[in-house]
Amino acid sequence: MAYEPPVTDYDEIVENGTCAFCGCNCDDLDFLVKDGHVVGVRHACRLGASKVMEDMDQRLMVPMIRDENGELQEVDWDTALDKAAELIAGAVRPIFYGWSETSIETMKHGIRLGELVGAVLDNQATICHGPSLQAVQNAGYPIATLGEVKNRADMIIYSGSNPMNSHPRHLARYSTFPRGWFRKRGRFDRTLVTMDPKYSDTAKMSDIWVGFEQNGDYGFYNAIRAAVKGKEIDQDYVSGIPKEDIMELAEAMKNVQFGALFFGLGLTHTLSKQRNIDMAIEMLVDLNEHAKWVLTPMRGHFNVNGFNIFMAYECGFPYGVDYCRGYQRYMNGETNTIDLLTRKECDVFMVIAADPGAHYPGGAVKHLAEIPVIQVDIHWGPSTEIADVVLPGSFIGVECAGTSYRMDGVPIYMKKAVDKPETCRDDEWIIRELHERVQKIKAEEAAAASK
Ligand code: SF4
Repeated sequence: MAYEPPVTDYDEIVENGTCAFCGCNCDDLDFLVKDGHVVGVRHACRLGASKVMEDMDQRLMVPMIRDENGELQEVDWDTALDKAAELIAGAVRPIFYGWSETSIETMKHGIRLGELVGAVLDNQATICHGPSLQAVQNAGYPIATLGEVKNRADMIIYSGSNPMNSHPRHLARYSTFPRGWFRKRGRFDRTLVTMDPKYSDTAKMSDIWVGFEQNGDYGFYNAIRAAVKGKEIDQDYVSGIPKEDIMELAEAMKNVQFGALFFGLGLTHTLSKQRNIDMAIEMLVDLNEHAKWVLTPMRGHFNVNGFNIFMAYECGFPYGVDYCRGYQRYMNGETNTIDLLTRKECDVFMVIAADPGAHYPGGAVKHLAEIPVIQVDIHWGPSTEIADVVLPGSFIGVECAGTSYRMDGVPIYMKKAVDKPETCRDDEWIIRELHERVQKIKAEEAAAASK
């Protein structure tokens, strides 16, 4: 990796900024600002810094509508908002998808709009930690804040997760390296364990690597549970791991003071899906008879957890919430975005701060290409190529303030550092405007119908 000299040419430092990349929501960043632009970031990892530093070449700068020749044409805000509102008001089965890279304040207006038109509100959990949320509903949730982990944990386990690549400051800031109140020697006071079929970068720096077989998670956790309960394991190997190693690890897990298990998509997306997480939670229930153990999903987008918390708080369900009957329903496999798209039920799709064009299955993207798509985002991406209306938002935590929820459920206020481009609008303003314009259309329709 080429050496990049530190930025020295800046006008001011905005302290205590929050990173809007991963679920660590690091809130100790210094933004170096020159001429109203962020030209450098201190304390962030490379992932976070590269996102916070403005990439104006990909920035959506003006509202656009696709013309009859299939080309996106610049329009004024009123025209773009009216067109989007008209599409939403006329939809029979609209979906509002994304939300994980915008603020809770924006989501608040999203729910109002969704209720008004009977939309489905869904976020990226539908393709990532959805199984974790289902398991939490099944089996409960022994959680702790990252601050508690930093101050207390003497054993850290990463299962199906490689934070050295996906959440680069997680080990340094919260789990493994920092000195805590009861862990004065930092790394030397903790045992780091990685459970993963891959010998990942995190596994390389761990004290113990458990490389069980692909899809072996469920069997392995079952074996740990048996060992913790003092039962005999009647096979020499479970999921490719020798019985003696399982007994030894179970004994070590029983004898810690405070253990923290962090799990990622490697656990949620193998064969047993949410049953893996059920089993991990049950394993912690067993371990909690001997020591204190907690568990936290490694959430990806900086506010993916926020949408699930906010929706569960507001309407009782975390994602895939369907308002088509005038009240909220939630049924996995029925009311999730990909199911609705592959069944070709959706007739208008609004994507807010997400890019389904980049990561949805082909059948779902094919249907998206056939229906009107409204995009609210700050960057040009594959979804822009299929969007009929483009509404350029602003960057939460850099160009406007907003609230997000960290992976452990702690709310973080993300403050503004610089002004947004004059031609862009805040996400919150855009969704509120859409709500007001759709409300007006509905009122006019009702008045016309009553004559
Ligand atoms: S670890 Fe995550 S939140 Fe922290 S600076 Fe890196 S990308 Fe940003």
